[in-house]
Amino acid sequence: MQAPSVGGIMLPRGNGATVRLSRGASLTDFAEKINANPASLVQVMLNLGEMVTATQSVSDETLQLLADEMNYVVEIVSPEEEDRELLESFDIEFGENEGGEEMLVSRPPVVTVMGHVDHGKTRLLDAIRKTNVVAGEAGGITQHIGAYQVATEVNEEERRITFIDTPGHEAFTAMRARGAKSTDIAILVVAANDGVMPQTIEALNHAKAADVPIVVAVNKIDVEGADPTKVRGQLTEYGLVAEEYGGDTMFVDISAKQGLHIDSLLEAVVLTADAALDLRANDAQDAQGIAIEAHLDRGRGAVATVLVQRGTLRVGDTMVAGDAYGRVRAMFDDKGNNVEEAGPSTPVLVLGLTNVPGAGDNFLVVDEDRTARQIAEKRAARERNAAFAKRTRRVSLEDLDKVLKAGEVQQLNLIIKGDASGSVEALESSLLQLDVGEEVDIRVLHRGVGAVTETDIDLATGSDAIVIGFNVRAEGRATQRAEREGVDVRYYSVIYQAIEEIEAALKGMLKPEYEEVELGTAEIREVFKSSKLGNIAGVLIRSGEVKRNTKARLIRDGKVVAENLNIDGLRRFKDDVTEIREGFEGGINLGNFNDIKVDDVIATYEMREKPRG
Ligand code: GDP
Repeated sequence: MQAPSVGGIMLPRGNGATVRLSRGASLTDFAEKINANPASLVQVMLNLGEMVTATQSVSDETLQLLADEMNYVVEIVSPEEEDRELLESFDIEFGENEGGEEMLVSRPPVVTVMGHVDHGKTRLLDAIRKTNVVAGEAGGITQHIGAYQVATEVNEEERRITFIDTPGHEAFTAMRARGAKSTDIAILVVAANDGVMPQTIEALNHAKAADVPIVVAVNKIDVEGADPTKVRGQLTEYGLVAEEYGGDTMFVDISAKQGLHIDSLLEAVVLTADAALDLRANDAQDAQGIAIEAHLDRGRGAVATVLVQRGTLRVGDTMVAGDAYGRVRAMFDDKGNNVEEAGPSTPVLVLGLTNVPGAGDNFLVVDEDRTARQIAEKRAARERNAAFAKRTRRVSLEDLDKVLKAGEVQQLNLIIKGDASGSVEALESSLLQLDVGEEVDIRVLHRGVGAVTETDIDLATGSDAIVIGFNVRAEGRATQRAEREGVDVRYYSVIYQAIEEIEAALKGMLKPEYEEVELGTAEIREVFKSSKLGNIAGVLIRSGEVKRNTKARLIRDGKVVAENLNIDGLRRFKDDVTEIREGFEGGINLGNFNDIKVDDVIATYEMREKPRG
């Protein structure tokens, strides 16, 4: 008996040629690139032991495996890179200011307010909006469009600040997870009567991971028992040292409720921006930026708030936002006024898009409607493909070694959640002490007490981190989110086990665990001798089914007498078959192994990867 025929296909041979494929490509896409028949690639995968259809989106690993087999070098292009290339093919550069230094004008900082629940984020955003109407634009502020701009006087100069009006770091993180940088400065709100709380730390870590400077607003100073000094002390432990203590973080004591020191807070934002950032943009080019919020309005169609980051957006411009496009029909500012144009750092509500872009999608103005449509359509198609492949994109402990070798990651990012601050700290410090050689750094992006939340998953998505849950589980929709985004979440209840696994992963020793699954047993009724194939067992299948190319052991009188055998050949009557089920007779060839007797039992099994838990 022989190995199964591969159907006589000619394996395409790449001779080391490079094929560029987008993440989430299908075998058909691959076949197109190398001028092969998709069906032949399906067959190749089948021979490699993977069942995939021609049009299904496959993982990076599968593309790699297939390429190796056919001697191609595959280059998988990330969505961001692909988008850049897509835009480049239209001669558009996204994300850079056009022209040289002389084209740049200063722009207002864009600020996000973050902090623990109930510490006053919403109240603060309201207070700022109410007390600081841009000069000359006084009037009813009625619109919530997702962002607004205020003016404040610093050193006798009018300075503007743009606030993203979705409190909490969810929006911030969700946008960052999608690769969009929306924020220049974060205001961290800490209630002085409550002090630093888990989400304070979470917010702080998000801002740090995004490399965004922080201004601390110590809120609720009007409340009895408020202790702003204590907050300063607590935050020192997290690397935020107040200026008055010799650090470089500005702390401002405020009361959002009484409107106390809001001006000082705004001044601190401006001063921090001046000290830490160079906020300038070309206001003369075609507008570019990001979508902050969008919804479908029954009367007006798609309504999107966009933040212009560079250039000037005008009514009549043709724009693309994510996979939506259209001509700007009308624009409104955060006070509901009709506006004709919007420059850098200005949020505006835009009417005229074909559909609703996602929060964090980038937008850009192009010359022709046709270009806009083409870009939008290509993006929509890519989104669909990528959604399938996403699951396997992220770093997991198993593939860490591979990724490290490929030089993609020099840093293992971790997010640690646990049941108590003591255990979390213990785990963190042990992990940080792991000696794993020079090439790899362990970085704990965030640690906290409590369940693994959706925000943790978002942070992990944005930073390719692995999430560790110690004596805690996922909460809400975090598990689904992790699965969708392909984030590796691991749960432990014993510290040393967590440490061992991470260490093993870093040293490339974390092999998947396999378990044996019994498939079937066959009783030998007769032994045939074949000059070509050696001894063949005539069998009756007693249980399950016996499949070709699976592992087997030989049992005689209840004892295992031979291990690690292989079902090399399987026949029913004169035909080669792939399996024989319980109750049927057939012939089994165990390859080179010939020591079989009547009444022996051939037990077949398969090794399956065990889910870790
Ligand atoms: P968020 O969850 O961080 O958005 O917090 P909110 O802005 O909803 O505020 C939570 C509660 O604290 C509300 O009842 C607010 O009225 C109250 N609050 C917010 N700021 C202050 C403040 O400065 N002083 C006092 N006394 N209460 C405040």
